[in-house]
Amino acid sequence: MQKAIGYQCSLCQTRYGLDEVTYTCPKDDGVLDVLLDLEAINRAASPQTIFDSTDRSMWRYLPLLPVSDPGHTGTPLRSVGWTPVYRPPQLAAALGMKSLWLKDESGNPSASFKDRASALLIARAAEIGAEVIVTASTGNAGAALAGMAAAAGQKAVIFAPKTAPPAKVAQLLVFGSEVILVDGNYDDAVALAVAAADEYGWYCRNTGYNPFTAEGKKTAALEIWEQVIVGSQVKGRLNVFVSVGDGNIISGVHKGFRDLHALGWLEEMPRIFGVQSSGSAAIANAYLAGTEEIKPVSATTLADSISVDMPSDGLRALRAATQTGGAYVVVEDEAILAGISALGRVGIFSEPAASTAYAGLVKALADGLISPDEPTLVLLTGSGLKDVRAAMQAAGEAPVIAPNLQSLNEFFAKKG
Ligand SMILES: *Cc1c(COP(=O)(O)O)cnc(C)c1O
Ligand SMILES: [Zn+2]
Repeated sequence: MQKAIGYQCSLCQTRYGLDEVTYTCPKDDGVLDVLLDLEAINRAASPQTIFDSTDRSMWRYLPLLPVSDPGHTGTPLRSVGWTPVYRPPQLAAALGMKSLWLKDESGNPSASFKDRASALLIARAAEIGAEVIVTASTGNAGAALAGMAAAAGQKAVIFAPKTAPPAKVAQLLVFGSEVILVDGNYDDAVALAVAAADEYGWYCRNTGYNPFTAEGKKTAALEIWEQVIVGSQVKGRLNVFVSVGDGNIISGVHKGFRDLHALGWLEEMPRIFGVQSSGSAAIANAYLAGTEEIKPVSATTLADSISVDMPSDGLRALRAATQTGGAYVVVEDEAILAGISALGRVGIFSEPAASTAYAGLVKALADGLISPDEPTLVLLTGSGLKDVRAAMQAAGEAPVIAPNLQSLNEFFAKKG
């Protein structure tokens, strides 16, 4: 069954056949949406066929994905997604909320949300016969591609800024891809990956460039629908908080809900809230200025996964909020660190870009953007182990004492 029928440009709305273009719109470089054959999907599947699936991964949604079964069963490629949703009562109580869900992506094979996109890209690469996949990355997208490529026996090349956190670089290297660090920032790595793909005929996974990444990322929305909206019988519209750098996760989440809505499988679209650090707020700036014109910033946030000068999927990311009655929220890096601590206290270890979404919820409540009565989900996109330096900044240092009881007693006496 052919589930994808083409692309549509997010800027000029021009439609293209699946084999006509590979990346962005030839007219205006607009990011392309993948168009699905909704009738064919509705003939072949229903919500119930999905609910009955025994596949506990993103691949349970294969009927809604624009690729065929990628194979590689029994490998990490097949265990991406179907991440847990938590309802920590202490956190909800502290925020005065009734219905709060946290979806934790740290259990993905490479410990971040990005595995969803990379797993789908591996499937697409096989279909078009690509020998080498290349990507630029702040770390997580590269680690995800390297891990998924290793699982599938696919060749991959990763460009990352040389300032990427060491844990992320270590992960890239361990997975055995060709890893090249660039003496520049993420935006420089992006440009180099595109140039290298042209030069060597590689298939480029770059975020906000390859239309298929959002199709992988939309599986998070499909899970939120199944696990929370249907599973917990949510009354009213769900608020969904997503941290935003390039804007591809939020665009993918929006696409997932739009697909479900268009299929007639979802009654009410959730309201989507994008959260950015004040040190990297290009999209939020446009939102707050009431324009769709996104201007580059000089990114400085400690949340490296969302540190982006010029978001590559900015327009769709902006519309994910404006078209759903959501909003953009800006948080300070201190609030991001406080978020790491708050999440840690309920047993969830998040990297800064993940706790950003939680900090956004705290801010949205304080500003009255949402009411504590509204059902709300926060997407936590990556593991704290990805950036232990930031974790130590949030948690502080542990005391060191002599290994005897006297020192321990003195320590507790001093602490009072
Ligand atoms: C990539 C990433 C984000 C942001 O996704 P964008 O598509 O760049 O907006 C957020 N959190 C983590 C952990 C990420 O790796
Ligand atoms: Zn266009």
